[in-house]
Amino acid sequence: MQNERKTMNKKPVFTVPAKSILNLDSKFKEKGLSDGPTFSAGSACAYSCCYCYVPAMMSRNPHTRVLADNKASFEGSVIRRVNAPEILHQQLHYADGRPRYADPRDTRVVYASPLVDVGANLELARETIELCRIILRSTHWQIRLLSKSTLLPFIARELNDYRNRMIYGVSTGTPDDGIAAAIEAGTSKVSKRIESLHQMQDEGYRTFGMICPSLPQPDYVAFSKKMCQALRIERCEHVWCEVINVRGQSMTRTVTALQQAGYHDCACQLAATSNRQVWEDYARATFLAHTQLIPAGKLRFLQYVTAESRQWWSQQTNKGAILL
Ligand code: SF4
Repeated sequence: MQNERKTMNKKPVFTVPAKSILNLDSKFKEKGLSDGPTFSAGSACAYSCCYCYVPAMMSRNPHTRVLADNKASFEGSVIRRVNAPEILHQQLHYADGRPRYADPRDTRVVYASPLVDVGANLELARETIELCRIILRSTHWQIRLLSKSTLLPFIARELNDYRNRMIYGVSTGTPDDGIAAAIEAGTSKVSKRIESLHQMQDEGYRTFGMICPSLPQPDYVAFSKKMCQALRIERCEHVWCEVINVRGQSMTRTVTALQQAGYHDCACQLAATSNRQVWEDYARATFLAHTQLIPAGKLRFLQYVTAESRQWWSQQTNKGAILL
């Protein structure tokens, strides 16, 4: 089934039937981004980031069958879920209309989105606002939204009545507009994203930082300092950080994109991390630099560990390491 609107962000749009918008028991709890729940009105993003983990994660998901039927690629398509607001409303209410999660002591954080950008264009930002309103009216939950767009201030102002229950963050793995453009197709300039974060901070909205995914650096402390200043981390409730992880073709795609855009040193340094020890050294150097600048109670450094590396990372949890 293809949507009556043929394209979105220059990609064909497919709509699929879905049983759920809300996932109450998501793995994002391990990352500290939610207290368990996440929601998503889409299954394939309007943006295209080379390092994105979603194509690998969704490769066997029934929502992607529509792509095979239409000979379309996951990265080159947008998948939206039919009747997302109605389905979310049903999930949050009993059949007689009473809300299921009405306890005022239940203030858990729900995160969006684990699969797509919540503000990749105005239409999707409006959909996000509608879904947030349904959650905010039916529960006492808090909502954390992450985006690579500049539309979060628009969303924040539309949901201003609920400002105490909304937390906003923009994803910024690099402060460099050129590098970001090389590896993230269609996203807003990173400098503009940072401006939008500042707008929300200046207007008193709750914010968080997301220095993710960060590339190998010649000077990790200088990189951390630059990012912390850019995000004004003293105004962020928490700061998540992560290096690039290998998922499917993500690393190869990112290295190739950096090469093609002329960032040869950057590409070579990243390619070198295909050696496990080099990757581990890069992750540790990134983490240790962030620990110098981001307070332990604020830093949430996401790290996939192995049997060999687990012990070292376990000793860093008091500084903000989260082992995955
Ligand atoms: S914005 Fe997020 S979900 Fe969308 S392509 Fe980029 S990494 Fe993937």
